[in-house]
Amino acid sequence: MSRNEIQVEVQDSVQDSVQDSVQNSVQDSIQDSLPIHEEEELYRENIIDHYRNPRNKFPLEKYTFSHKENNPLCGDEVCIFLKLDSKHFVSEVSFTGQGCAISQASASLLSEHIKGTTLQKIQQLQKEDIFKLLGISLSPGRVHCAVLSLKALHKGIEKNLK
Ligand code: ZN
Repeated sequence: MSRNEIQVEVQDSVQDSVQDSVQNSVQDSIQDSLPIHEEEELYRENIIDHYRNPRNKFPLEKYTFSHKENNPLCGDEVCIFLKLDSKHFVSEVSFTGQGCAISQASASLLSEHIKGTTLQKIQQLQKEDIFKLLGISLSPGRVHCAVLSLKALHKGIEKNLK
């Protein structure tokens, strides 16, 4: 077996085990949600995609404020970075964090959702808006995971802009 072949094999087995563990943790975090409806399947795939390939997941160097919130019930952590322009439009938004698929996917979805919007619109966002972005039924325990990024956003505004 050549060196290259060995490397390819190692690569494959690493990939497999990473995929398995991602799959498991995604499954874990949505296993206690309500029965699957067919349209939920697409949302579920979208959540997994946002979890595996999060959008805007990096710390901003220059920002108006950043704020971190934890969800001790699940071990989730999300820190939101927001940059507003002079007219209070969101010019940049990003997040960092770790935790279950629901918490990280919601942060990614939320960051895409609020880019270019106004501070006022962000303040009007409610947990129902997050549920809409996620599109799947959540058990009460998972609600905390889902709204963690919105909580970080709202608390950050409260602490820094009022
Ligand atoms: Zn969680």
